[in-house]
Amino acid sequence: MKMYDLLKSSVQNIKEYKPGKSIDEIVALYDVSPDSVIKLGSNENILGPSPKAIDALHSHSKTINIYPSVDAYELVCALSEYTNFPKDNIVASGPGMDGLIDNLMRLIVSKDDEVIIPIPTFIYYEISAFSNDAKPIFVERNSDFSINVDAILNAETSKTKIVFLCSPNNPSGELISEKDARKIIESVNCFVFIDEAYIEFAESNLSDLVKDYDNLIIGRTFSKVFGLASLRIGYGIMPAWLKKEYMKVSPPFSISGMGINAAVSALSDTEHVVESVELSKRGREYLKNNILFKVYESMANFVMVDTTPLNSKEVSEALLKRGIIVRDCSSIRGAGDFLIRITIGTDLQNERVVDELNKIYKEIINLKEI
Ligand SMILES: *Cc1c(COP(=O)(O)O)cnc(C)c1O
Repeated sequence: MKMYDLLKSSVQNIKEYKPGKSIDEIVALYDVSPDSVIKLGSNENILGPSPKAIDALHSHSKTINIYPSVDAYELVCALSEYTNFPKDNIVASGPGMDGLIDNLMRLIVSKDDEVIIPIPTFIYYEISAFSNDAKPIFVERNSDFSINVDAILNAETSKTKIVFLCSPNNPSGELISEKDARKIIESVNCFVFIDEAYIEFAESNLSDLVKDYDNLIIGRTFSKVFGLASLRIGYGIMPAWLKKEYMKVSPPFSISGMGINAAVSALSDTEHVVESVELSKRGREYLKNNILFKVYESMANFVMVDTTPLNSKEVSEALLKRGIIVRDCSSIRGAGDFLIRITIGTDLQNERVVDELNKIYKEIINLKEI
């Protein structure tokens, strides 16, 4: 018997996760110096972590022999204040929001249950679905990448357990309207998960809807605007009855004491958050107005670019050779072969992106004229 056959058959469907490339990889692959490489492929906070969070890590380092609080109590208290929700509605999760998604899957879906995923979107929903023996039902978006509410509602069956929505959507950047969200939440007989990983970069959020429905869960993370991607911390806002059940399956101590301390401090550093958001807002306008390819409107700290007539693989490789790491979306289900995603950088980095992308664009145009 082959040992491979012992694995769950559902796992055979999982495509290997391809993250954005690291600086080390680029330096090894191309002849560029590490100092000149800019990493705009993973939507991290370009300003780095909050200095307050770094201090918190240092001050906690002498007690890492002690288990943290079992459910990250201190962080849940801080999040309660930050979100204006009672503690009964909030869970802190590790590793990251991915951990929240996994725990919900383990709590909610059984073998052959279905989850609805409008594509293209964040890949982890389907990875978690396959690993939990659920069947992802992929629904196409409208041509502007907004969700197709009717298609989502039509995809619901008696086996549907969760609809995954992402607002702003990764990789396309648009928000889900309150009207569309309410329509879906009210029409379905299952849970709706709204991923708000990038919500601080947008003007509005949908978290208050948790007060109106008993089937809505909001997912958030410390990996993006809060600049703590390496610490792997997320959180969820959900109905109190669901939190009680969730805590039964959530592994205890899933966030380290250092993580809890750093996250509490990052939440308190409003100045750092405001500066990060301002930088992204300014940057996405600049990129939209100056890149010669089509740039989609974004409410997040990245923009999606249509590289037609070149395919995204060519363009992202051309940028890599020039020391700029972006995300080629062709490995994202439903994204096709002509989209790249670029994290908003510092003003200087954005200028370099515009400069290099436009050189690539002009080369094509010139070639065409010959
Ligand atoms: C980055 C990201 C997450 C979560 O990341 P974690 O690091 O696991 O907290 C979730 N959803 C989307 C859309 C993301 O881009």
